[in-house]
Amino acid sequence: MKNVLIVGGGFAGVWSAASAAKLRQERGLVEEELRVTVISAGDDLVIRPRLYEADPDRMRVPLDRVLGPIGVRRVAGTVTDIDTGARMVTAIRRDGTTSKLGYDRLVLASGSQVVRPGLPGAEHLFDIDTLAGAATLDAHLRRLPERAAEPGQFTAVVVGAGFTGLEIATELVARLKDLAPTDQVRVVLVERQDAIGPELGEGPRPAIQKALAELDVEVRLGVSVEEVAPDKVRLSDGTAVPAATVVWTAGMTASPLTSFIPGDKDRLGRLDVDEYLRVRGLRDVYAAGDTAAAVSPAEGRVVMQSCQHALPQGRFAGHNAAADLLGEELVRFETAPYSTCLSLGPAGAVVTSGWDRDVQMTGHAAKELKHAINEQWIYPPVDDPAELLNQAGPKAEVAGAQAS
Ligand SMILES: Cc1cc2nc3c(=O)[nH]c(=O)nc-3n(C[C@H](O)[C@H](O)[C@H](O)COP(=O)(O)OP(=O)(O)OC[C@H]3O[C@@H](n4cnc5c(N)ncnc54)[C@H](O)[C@@H]3O)c2cc1C
Repeated sequence: MKNVLIVGGGFAGVWSAASAAKLRQERGLVEEELRVTVISAGDDLVIRPRLYEADPDRMRVPLDRVLGPIGVRRVAGTVTDIDTGARMVTAIRRDGTTSKLGYDRLVLASGSQVVRPGLPGAEHLFDIDTLAGAATLDAHLRRLPERAAEPGQFTAVVVGAGFTGLEIATELVARLKDLAPTDQVRVVLVERQDAIGPELGEGPRPAIQKALAELDVEVRLGVSVEEVAPDKVRLSDGTAVPAATVVWTAGMTASPLTSFIPGDKDRLGRLDVDEYLRVRGLRDVYAAGDTAAAVSPAEGRVVMQSCQHALPQGRFAGHNAAADLLGEELVRFETAPYSTCLSLGPAGAVVTSGWDRDVQMTGHAAKELKHAINEQWIYPPVDDPAELLNQAGPKAEVAGAQAS
């Protein structure tokens, strides 16, 4: 029996598994001949791009309903070690026992995480990086009205004016207004650099600034956080902002499991992969999603840590890992042209295309697209194995890219 092991049940992991299973089915093989296993810390595919929204507990899809019907085995466990020499993954199961899982081909799809700072009072920071983090923030917000009145009761400070910071800051305006009188709601966006959305570039900036102004989000540029307390935050310009809620969004890094994989990493800790998404220098290891510094060949750019890029990477990595084991030719990674759709809370959204991020759409039309992406496009088919396999594999990706 040959064995493809996928670490991670996120977007890249799910589409890796479906794509390996699709090739198995196309070749008329049974599960005992080509085993596909996903090991994941949680039981759900977490829809991370929606974690800025209220009620984050809804933002998940049970992995077993997606993967079970296509014959993908799932192991619930947290991976603690990967030995690429012995081709062995170590994991702690829910019952506390340790398991060793061997592999013939590994796909590392364990995602990314926000880098929490070592500031004094950092334990008071909220984040929306994980389902647990977003649920903790949601519960905290809902309890705010029960507190004794205090300065900053309905003030939220969001640290980092990148993609995630902008989405949560603008959304918090609406979420806090649902809980408090409008004149008590204050949202402050703090950014260490001198520009809003420093990595988003100049294209969408005017639309973002307009939305922030419309929503009365206060922007503090060129400032960082020095200390956090339960009721306030102290900034590097010497000011203190009374705030019951401080959300940290600054800085992402690839999953720490990448440290077990030998080879070069980029500044985000992502693995250097070749055109087939195989980790350079390793015969048996592929990477997909936020762990992989994959190059979009048509654009000559290293892709973003994004859902948009995790899905296609999964389709190629899973297929190639299985094809490799079956002695078949590998398929070169391709992906649709880069675009972004940034939610701006009640002010709508902004859609850009290309790496210069030329604005295509703003306001409520853009928000409609965001709803479609968040609520339909990025969800895998559930309880529908035929459709899941139909959408899996590199050919489905290329067909989708040509159609879009
Ligand atoms: C708030 C927010 C908003 C975003 N908005 C957008 C957006 O608008 N557009 C966009 O394209 N992208 C967006 N993203 C980014 C996008 O969510 C990620 O790029 C995407 O989830 C990456 O997919 P992935 O499969 O690589 O990793 P993930 O989705 O992070 O999945 C990783 C998986 O690995 C598992 N795992 C991790 N460590 C271990 C371990 N040790 N053992 C076992 N399992 C493990 C996790 O449980 C999880 O199942 C956003 C992210 C956030 C947080």
